[in-house]
Amino acid sequence: MIIIMRPDATEEQVNYVVEKLKVHGFGTHLSKGVERTVIGAIGDKSAIELETIQMLPGVSEIVPIRKPYKLVSREFQKADTVVKISERLSIGAGQKIAVIAGPCSVESEQAIIEVAAEVKKAGAAALRGGAYKPRTSPYSFQGHGKKGLEMLKKAKEKTGLPIVTELLDTRDAELVAQYADVIQIGARNMQNFILLREVGKMKKPVLLKRGGGATIEELLMSAEYIMSEGNHNIILCERGIRTIETYTRNTLDLSAVPVIKKLSHLPVIVDPSHGTGKWDLVAPMSLAAIAAGADGLIIEVHPNPAEAMSDGPQSLKPETFSALMKQLQAVARAVGREL
Ligand code: PEP
Ligand code: MN
Repeated sequence: MIIIMRPDATEEQVNYVVEKLKVHGFGTHLSKGVERTVIGAIGDKSAIELETIQMLPGVSEIVPIRKPYKLVSREFQKADTVVKISERLSIGAGQKIAVIAGPCSVESEQAIIEVAAEVKKAGAAALRGGAYKPRTSPYSFQGHGKKGLEMLKKAKEKTGLPIVTELLDTRDAELVAQYADVIQIGARNMQNFILLREVGKMKKPVLLKRGGGATIEELLMSAEYIMSEGNHNIILCERGIRTIETYTRNTLDLSAVPVIKKLSHLPVIVDPSHGTGKWDLVAPMSLAAIAAGADGLIIEVHPNPAEAMSDGPQSLKPETFSALMKQLQAVARAVGREL
């Protein structure tokens, strides 16, 4: 539920309500707006007489949150969340469109440094690259692990680009957090609740990708797992779902963007690479994603897609990526955003 304080409520009155809620086992979250303070309270409502809270000095109104997800809901927080990644990069509405680019897997130090420099030149705001890869086949390349993280670090040193990389296993959480500026939770792990709780205990921004068979509500419930542990720095990512269509690798559900914006205050980005599985569909779907209101994109770029160790068919060459960035500027401007 949400406790809306009166515009003239004092800090003492707010603190008193918070204490009262805590005594009854509620988790609380304060948001101080210009006009009034709102207290979000998560817990068992039967543990307290709501009338007694309503009677406390300074309380204006109690509003129940009807959705199963609470902290991530728009009801809980009206203002858009902006996730700060570095001094230069924040992701969220009102901010510049953020484009995260790089190879599917980190393959070698030289290759990741080169591609990082290329995507930076084209205007990317962060570098992606998997050191731990969730592959469908156990016989496929599984990523270089810690060595791959070291390679990402070198690329960051050379280019200054923040790093987005996937965490697959709770046992690697601390290690990955040392190298990553954003921890990616992949589609296959969207409902790995133990992993979600683990990243929830961290402060690092989390990029949570929608599962291939997950509804929007399930995605938001997974974000709720992370937030319920205290980490509010979450970026959601639409990356395609399984449908009857087989022409594309997945069906990119672009309507998820405005739907999530309506239901949640969290930023949303789109992955047109995994969303389509085909490099020539990446540009049109990127443009459409920005037009639909996405706060950014995550795009696979490889200097030589035919030789890529994973996801070559959906990877853009650096020059194609660069051309796309120019097209994106026009669409961003048309919808009141900036690249
Ligand atoms: C990836 O980003 O490389 C990846 C594996 O994506 P997803 O989890 O969306 O399949
Ligand atoms: Mn990939």
